[in-house]
Amino acid sequence: MESRLRNLAVEALFPRFCVACAREGSLMCRDCLDQWTPVPPRVSCAYCGKGESPRTCHDCQEEMYLDGLSYFVPYGNALFRELLTSWKYHGDHSVEPIFEKSLRRAGLRMEPPVKPYWVTHIPLHPTRERFRGFDQAKHVADWAGEIFGLPVETFVERRYKTAPQARTQHTRRRVGEMDEVFGILPGVQVPEHVLLCDDVFTSGTTMDAVARLLKENGAKTVWGFTLAKGR
Ligand SMILES: [Zn+2]
Ligand SMILES: [Zn+2]
Repeated sequence: MESRLRNLAVEALFPRFCVACAREGSLMCRDCLDQWTPVPPRVSCAYCGKGESPRTCHDCQEEMYLDGLSYFVPYGNALFRELLTSWKYHGDHSVEPIFEKSLRRAGLRMEPPVKPYWVTHIPLHPTRERFRGFDQAKHVADWAGEIFGLPVETFVERRYKTAPQARTQHTRRRVGEMDEVFGILPGVQVPEHVLLCDDVFTSGTTMDAVARLLKENGAKTVWGFTLAKGR
């Protein structure tokens, strides 16, 4: 309720302008949306940037659990960042059809290696989801499920907002930082192949921690799917 009121207030105070051409009316006008096909990112190992495959490279596989990553745009894409900010921090839901449509167009290049995947997401902490009014990663999972025709299910819960030591020590073992932050939901049977969705892949620490959790609970493949990837 609170977030709905906040959205109404935001809409009244800030009329929308197309982020691409500045025309008044919507966050991305119909013309710009039809044309918005951001340059696909250079495909490489998500962790070290080497190679030419979205699969985690041989060297990184020694330490990491995520098998590969498909993403829509580099986080540096200015238009994307404006849309993401409006969505996540200003609660502007008119961003959702823009992302959905763009992802659908990018579909093929973002498709994970052929397997019977189940789609899931990295959840927000319940307190944060309540504050924000929605979980953006859940939307990404729903879109991926729609686009690829795959079943969508929630497998993971976030038990703590952040790992206590994550705030102070960045040099510790990366995956270990996130131990116990996430857990498998009670009663869940983790499938063999999971497409793990989030909005942005930054250092990959969170995604890798959840990939490890899923693998420790029965998954054989965990492939990442995000809107963007930072450095
Ligand atoms: Zn426009
Ligand atoms: Zn690598």
